[in-house]
Amino acid sequence: MDGTFQRDKNWRPLESRTYRFKKPALHFFCPLCRTERCITTSHRLTALNYVQITLLTGFLTAVAFPLAGFKMLAAFFPIWLAFEGTRRILFSREVPCPHCGFDASWYKRDVKVARRRVAEFWEDKQKPQEGPEVPQMAQNESFEEASAP
Ligand SMILES: [Zn+2]
Repeated sequence: MDGTFQRDKNWRPLESRTYRFKKPALHFFCPLCRTERCITTSHRLTALNYVQITLLTGFLTAVAFPLAGFKMLAAFFPIWLAFEGTRRILFSREVPCPHCGFDASWYKRDVKVARRRVAEFWEDKQKPQEGPEVPQMAQNESFEEASAP
């Protein structure tokens, strides 16, 4: 499991030396750039999360007891919903590949959007490299002047 699997000779990832996560929730290869990927947060709530939800509900019930009595126990459900939503957001944040920008969740919903996202990712990646080159070009004599008779 932990990197002991055989690697194909033709397996050419964009990034061959990736950061190794201790206990990834998901371990896979990017379908676009073949880089080894890990997702640390699972899309499911852990047992600890349910304990947190219960404690939070208990606390809110205790605080609002003079006003609402045991009705506040119903707050369990919106809190649960909020936890689930947060977990989904955290999970979907980790889905896009940090090496090539491929977003599997968008690919599933809309391939065109996924394609555009990859294109935008590479545009952004090339910008910082071009940055220092542009003023350097301006300092030198322009090509047109040099070639003019
Ligand atoms: Zn990738």
